[in-house]
Amino acid sequence: MADSRKFVSGIVPPEIRSDPVWWFVFQESKLLVVGEPSDVTLPCLFHITELGLVPLREHYLGRLNHRPCFAAEVAEETTPPAGMAFDGLRQVYGRLDDDLFWIAARAVQIIGWDRNHQFCGRCAVRLRTKTDERAKECPQCGLLHFPRLAPAIIVLVERGNQLLLARSRHFMPGMHSVLAGFVEPGESLEEAVVREVKEEVGIEIKDIKYFGSQPWPFPHSLMIGFTATYAGGEILLDNKEIEDAGWFTVEKLPCIPGKISIARKLIDGFLAKQGRFHED
Ligand SMILES: [Zn+2]
Repeated sequence: MADSRKFVSGIVPPEIRSDPVWWFVFQESKLLVVGEPSDVTLPCLFHITELGLVPLREHYLGRLNHRPCFAAEVAEETTPPAGMAFDGLRQVYGRLDDDLFWIAARAVQIIGWDRNHQFCGRCAVRLRTKTDERAKECPQCGLLHFPRLAPAIIVLVERGNQLLLARSRHFMPGMHSVLAGFVEPGESLEEAVVREVKEEVGIEIKDIKYFGSQPWPFPHSLMIGFTATYAGGEILLDNKEIEDAGWFTVEKLPCIPGKISIARKLIDGFLAKQGRFHED
């Protein structure tokens, strides 16, 4: 999960740059990385114009171990500088330092918000970026626009030595995971957990406990993880989102999500309770 101890978020950039700074440069949602395919880092320089890149937009993010961090976006047709590449965040995970990765997950959301919210939704006037907080303001009607964040619950349901795993139609072939879904307006997180499980697989649950949370920048979610215990009912698929679901023991697990996800941390937590460990 994101280790935020070394990173201090900020809005106002430093007036003077005495040292090179970290650059989180995006082309759409792809990050500019430097180095070998197996081990990459990010450009660290005073400004990305040194690489011949022209930023469409630029945002100060804060400091990582005192070094300022900036996000920028370049045009779609931009060719990466020599020895560099634009790579999807999922592909970068595990190859880039963990702290830099989770700041990149922040950066891609701020860049995406800036790109997609340029005009007031109420009166269609071009928005002005506020300098003292992460927000935009409409110069005509004064409406404030904050970065969009979509909270989603994710829940591991257990029944004795089994856990519930399901397959969404959007998953890669063979992949199963724990259940997840977006929180609806007016709903508590616990209500969302109960509703999602009921809607997707038709069962009742109890003992809902908070597990942990994780930013999920695909494109702008916050995943809030829970564990729960089976309380009744038979699995009945919703026939929309879920195409397969069932109870699995740790000895017979299907293909499960990679270590980047909180889904995997939930599953690993269940395995650990049974003294087990899943390698890849
Ligand atoms: Zn307005």
